[in-house]
Amino acid sequence: MKKLLYLFASTAIFISACTTNAVTGRKQLSLISEDALQQQAVSQYRSFLSQNRVVSDASSRDAEMVRRVGSRIANAITKYYSTKGLGRELEGYKWEFNLVDNKDVNAWCMPGGKVVVYTGLLPVAQNEAALAIVLAHEITHAVAHHGQERISQAMLAQGIAVGGNLFTSGNSQANNIFNNIYGPAVTVGALLPNSRNQELEADRYGLIFAAMAGYNPREAIPFWTRMAKKGGAKPPPFLSTHPTDEQRIRKLNTYMNEALSYYKPVNSR
Ligand SMILES: [Zn+2]
Repeated sequence: MKKLLYLFASTAIFISACTTNAVTGRKQLSLISEDALQQQAVSQYRSFLSQNRVVSDASSRDAEMVRRVGSRIANAITKYYSTKGLGRELEGYKWEFNLVDNKDVNAWCMPGGKVVVYTGLLPVAQNEAALAIVLAHEITHAVAHHGQERISQAMLAQGIAVGGNLFTSGNSQANNIFNNIYGPAVTVGALLPNSRNQELEADRYGLIFAAMAGYNPREAIPFWTRMAKKGGAKPPPFLSTHPTDEQRIRKLNTYMNEALSYYKPVNSR
């Protein structure tokens, strides 16, 4: 009976806590507010930066490039959302882009626009347009509420109660979920694939945002091919719903014409 009640309760939560994503139109589970997530992100981001060597703009053209590419992508996304009347979706976003000295092939974006690129990603990216492809992909995961969705799914699976400030210092379970989803504590050290739906959304909208920012979306094909060869972006074994490398490239090609319709090259490269 207890089990049955739990099932009813969780089903009710599931139904009432589904929101329709304003951009993708897909229904997503959201048991936690975007505000709470952004607050947690700020504190985790600060703590991550304090524990890693941040490469300064003054000492590195790469750090400068990361900031330039990131800002252009952020501007493109802001423009895309406001054109669609969805400007409020990005409320609370205070963008930050930092390059950290770390040989892992990795980059991530937390809710609220807190972005990190690892120096180990740059030799695989090889050029600014490919860096734009991967940054636009990672940022799309954040603005499309993919983290919120994954945290909600994990909360439901682990039976974590909803409400109040979830990420209090005493709630190690909730804090662990956050840290496992956003790179800092992840030991895999590589771009971590999300679910299949989320990956395809990040690929599709990422291409559009990179193109709007002035970067050639076609660079996505050689970039993801390099990543596949590198053995990066491989999911941990428990994630079986991710797209394979071949599926990803095939899908990227089907998204290409749509992205190219947004593409206005900038002259600076
Ligand atoms: Zn992804």
